[in-house]
Amino acid sequence: MKNICVVGTGYVGLTTGVCFADLGHSVTCIEIDLHKLELLRSGKSPIFEPGLEELQERNMRAGRLRFTDDYAVGIPDAEFIFITVGTPMGEDGSADLTYVKAAARSIGQYLRSGSIIIDKSTVPVGTGDMVENIIAEYAGPDVKFDVVSNPEFLREGSALSDFFKPDRIVLGAKNREAAQRVAALHETLGAPIIITDLRTAEMIKYASNAFLATRISFINEIAQICERLGADVREVARGMGADKRIGPHFLEAGVGYGGSCFPKDVLALYHMAASAGCHPQLLQAVMDINSDARKRFVKKVETVLGDLEGRVIGVLGLSFKPNTDDMREAPSVDIINSLLKKGARVKAYDPVAMARAEELLPTVTFTATAYDVAKDADALLLVTEWNEFKQLDWQRIKRYMRQPVVIDGRNLYDPREMRNLGFIYWGVGRGEAP
Ligand code: NAD
Repeated sequence: MKNICVVGTGYVGLTTGVCFADLGHSVTCIEIDLHKLELLRSGKSPIFEPGLEELQERNMRAGRLRFTDDYAVGIPDAEFIFITVGTPMGEDGSADLTYVKAAARSIGQYLRSGSIIIDKSTVPVGTGDMVENIIAEYAGPDVKFDVVSNPEFLREGSALSDFFKPDRIVLGAKNREAAQRVAALHETLGAPIIITDLRTAEMIKYASNAFLATRISFINEIAQICERLGADVREVARGMGADKRIGPHFLEAGVGYGGSCFPKDVLALYHMAASAGCHPQLLQAVMDINSDARKRFVKKVETVLGDLEGRVIGVLGLSFKPNTDDMREAPSVDIINSLLKKGARVKAYDPVAMARAEELLPTVTFTATAYDVAKDADALLLVTEWNEFKQLDWQRIKRYMRQPVVIDGRNLYDPREMRNLGFIYWGVGRGEAP
């Protein structure tokens, strides 16, 4: 059993804290947002993540997991201190390190010798050195410690299984022995462990996310070409993905990537590269294609309906992907804002993200079910491919709608079936326009 402290309890921090407690360690989570803290202390998770709240509650009851806003409680006895605070998009596109710096200062004030500070937040190359300097300044010369970079690869919606069964664990450090101590902490997970230097570990995270985003933009570009030339991008992706050198993942054409990671991380890497005098032209194209995918989707609605002034548009799905309530950089926000700007009235439904979406989209009407969205709608747009949208009663939906128009931004439905049901249906990259 080890004493672990986790600083910041968002999607990454809470998952890390809860899962290490579940592995039998004693975990203290530090959270400065007092509203979140109150929820956490009452056994509730402030975020929607399948299975997380149950595991949190169980480990709190077992006395292995606690929450505080007091660094004096969490830091001094901790052998391993994880930094899991946010690194949002800064105004100039670089990663905003305000929270990381603040966490490092607070950790430094209470740190004792022998601890390892593990940076799990996604941070620009060189941040590990900066964190070390800040902590050293606040801890004083007598306190000996190490900084290890341990980028996080979990996916919202499957965070628990990603924690317990990671593809790999990346550890970067100046002191290899410190990295090996962190490796030992992860030993029970049985995952391959890659030990490297601090800067390389930091870069592995950005390169991984940028590569996944590139795959999405690549297939979206192919989708656009398919649409013009009468090919079906889903079949193209299936054919490509069967090649072991390519693999099937992240080849789903749609309205583009969103979420709290890809948009900000691709932009931050672009910024890092440009600041270092490089010319990151591929990253620029990836971002351009992604923003075009959203615009093209709205254009399709206009192509079918004409002027959108006064039209009622129903939107199915708001979160940036299924199984999360995360609305950060969700394509739905850009799409809906663009529809509103063109004079449309928008109704929307999402199984879990509506509370968060209401803050971002105050003029949208949120409904209780997918069917309510369809009522009097001139078009129905599928933006997030939640499971519950896979088996809708389309006859019922068609009766409710003013016009049977479905624009599918995730290729969730079969074009032939939808057209047989009498819908004007348009997916992404699946042959010609309807
Ligand atoms: P988040 O915004 O959901 O959570 C961050 C938490 O840290 C918040 O609760 C905030 O109140 C708290 N916090 C901020 N400053 C603090 C401080 N000084 N002391 C204590 N608590 C503080 O962020 P997230 O989505 O969990 O992401 C965290 C980091 O992990 C980011 O760098 C992100 O890029 C990276 N990451 C996220 C994911 C993901 O899927 N969300 C996946 C991999 C990596």
